[in-house]
Amino acid sequence: MYSRRVGLLGGTFDPPHIGHLVAAIHVQTSLELDEVRLVVANHPWQKEGSREITEAEQRLAMATAAAEACEVEAIVASDIELRIGGPSYMVNTLERLQVDEPHTSFLTIVGADAANDLDTWHKTDRLKESAEFVVVNRPGYSAPDIEGWAHQTVEIPAIDLSSSDIRKMVFEQKPISFLTPPQVMQHIEAQGLYRLG
Ligand code: ATP
Ligand code: MG
Repeated sequence: MYSRRVGLLGGTFDPPHIGHLVAAIHVQTSLELDEVRLVVANHPWQKEGSREITEAEQRLAMATAAAEACEVEAIVASDIELRIGGPSYMVNTLERLQVDEPHTSFLTIVGADAANDLDTWHKTDRLKESAEFVVVNRPGYSAPDIEGWAHQTVEIPAIDLSSSDIRKMVFEQKPISFLTPPQVMQHIEAQGLYRLG
């Protein structure tokens, strides 16, 4: 018997923003989950090569600050994929968590964009058997057709924002206030992130 239900919102979090946090908070309350973890990818293999990814420790620090800024005890950041090391595959992360926390059932939260790409994830056969997904709407992406994948949908307030948008705004010296918590803004500024594009 499972005693806890935990949602995992995996991502690059480069940087985290209110779109991530609204998704985490709404899924946590809608499904009455004990916890939602922002799972920071160590090496986001699907994104590598396309641009410079901020080092994992920095993205973890920002995700931790963002989770704390929610002031909801159930929203936390997770360093599990940094501890596992190497390229981050949700199938491996889930298997590790299921061993470490056998009494917890895990739900994998994805935005509509990520849900549309599930077939490109690592070891889809094993993932299909072991994972249960929660799909949230995201502006600009149609509801995914993910027949064959165990999933449910949670409707959240639409936030038309991405980390790419924020990186571009910082590069263009535009304000990012209210798009990410002040603690994350401070980290970006102190570390001089995203200034060079
Ligand atoms: P990037 O622009 O760098 O791809 P991103 O904003 O898409 O960044 P990710 O770290 O790639 O953020 O996304 C992590 C997860 O959060 C994904 O499942 C994604 O669909 C979801 N997500 C991100 N932003 C939103 C949003 N505004 N609304 C709903 N879901 C979101
Ligand atoms: Mg993305």
